[in-house]
Amino acid sequence: MTTEPTYHIETLAVHAGVAPDPVSGAVMTPIYQTSTYAQADVGVHKGYEYSRTDNPTRTALQTALAALEGGQHALAFASGMATIDTILRLVRPGEHVLSGNDVYGGTFRLFDKVLAAYGLEFSFVDTADSTAVQAAMRPHTKLVWLETPTNPMLRLTDIAAVAQIAHAAGAWLGVDNTFASPVLQRPLTLGADFVVHSTTKYIGGHSDVVGGAVVLNDTAVYERLKFLQNAIGAVPGPMDCFLTLRGIKTLALRMAQHCRNAIKVAQFLADHPQVAEVIYPGLESHPQYELAQRQMAGPGGMISFILQGGEAAARTVARHTKLFTLAESLGGVESLIELPAPMTHASVADSPLAVDPGLVRISVGIESAADLITDLQQALGKL
Ligand SMILES: *Cc1c(COP(=O)(O)O)cnc(C)c1O
Repeated sequence: MTTEPTYHIETLAVHAGVAPDPVSGAVMTPIYQTSTYAQADVGVHKGYEYSRTDNPTRTALQTALAALEGGQHALAFASGMATIDTILRLVRPGEHVLSGNDVYGGTFRLFDKVLAAYGLEFSFVDTADSTAVQAAMRPHTKLVWLETPTNPMLRLTDIAAVAQIAHAAGAWLGVDNTFASPVLQRPLTLGADFVVHSTTKYIGGHSDVVGGAVVLNDTAVYERLKFLQNAIGAVPGPMDCFLTLRGIKTLALRMAQHCRNAIKVAQFLADHPQVAEVIYPGLESHPQYELAQRQMAGPGGMISFILQGGEAAARTVARHTKLFTLAESLGGVESLIELPAPMTHASVADSPLAVDPGLVRISVGIESAADLITDLQQALGKL
C-alpha cells in the first residue's frame, strides 16, 4: 500500500513502508540479511548493490519513518548519535551551531568534546526562550538544534517560533523528537528542517534495539545526507531495521498508554508529601502547560521529580522500586527509573548542562497505572 498522507498516524504506523514481499507474499518485510546483490549484467541491478548503500529492510523502515513524521525522505542509522553526527557533517568549519542548553548528554558530548575540535563553533542557549534564541544567533549560524521536551528537565520549545528565527537568519532548524515521538508531535509540520529520533526509545519501543533516523523534506539536502550515510557508513543492520519496524506497528497504541499512565503517576507524585516538585508537561503546574496543550497531542511518558530529601532520598527510592527497573534509556514498554546526574548525564557533570543530583527521572511504561503507583508508593515508603 502507498503512504497516502491522508491516512491517520495509527494507520501509517501499521502500513507505511510495508508491502507484501513480491517473491513470497510475506506480509511482513523480510530481514534481508545480505551484504550484496546479484547483478544481471555489469551495473544492471534491482536498485540494490551493497547493503551499506541500501538494503530492502532498511528501505521499508525509512519509508515508514518518513510517513510517520509527514516528511518526504528518511534515512536510518546505527544509533541516534550516528544520525546526529552525520547531519553535523553538513556544517563546515567556521560555521556556528546554536544548540539547546538542555540537550541529551551524548549530543552535548558530541558537539563539545568531538566536533568542536574540527572547527565547528557551538554555543548553548535555553531554546524555551525565543528572545534568547534570537539574541544568540550569529551571522554564520548554520544550524539551530533543539529537543522538546528536553531531557531531563522536560522544558518545551515553541518549534514554530524558533523555526521562524532560524529561517530568517538563513539557518536550518533540527529538532530531536525522541521524547515526543511522531504520535505526539510532528516538527516538520511546524517548520523544522530536520527531525531526528533515537529510534532506540519510543519508536522501537521494546528496549531491544539501538538505532536512529532523520526525516526531512528538502530533496537536495536529502541527497547530500544520503551521500554522507553511504560515505560514513553508520548504517543499521537489517535485523535492527526489522525490529524497529515491528515496534512501529504499535507506536500509536503505546504512546496513548504511556500518556494515560504518566498523567496518573504524575498526579500521584504531585500529591505525595515526600515529593518536593514534579516536572511533567501534562500537569497544570508545568510552566509551559499551555504550549504543551497547543503543540503536542499528549504530554508523553517521561516524568522528572525532586524529593524533599534530595539526593539521598532519590537514591533510596531508585534502589527500592520493583516494577520500575533502575536503568538508563527510556521509551520502552517497561517502566524505568534513574538518577540523571550520576547516570545518563554524567558526561555533562562539569558543564552548564549539569543537573540537580537529587533529580529522579522515570520513563513510565505501558503496565497498569495502579501497579506502577503501588510500586512507587512502597519505594517512597522506605524514606
Ligand atoms: C538516547 C537519545 C539520543 C541518542 O540516541 P542513541 O540511539 O542512544 O545513540 C539522542 N537524543 C535523545 C533525546 C535521546 O534520548
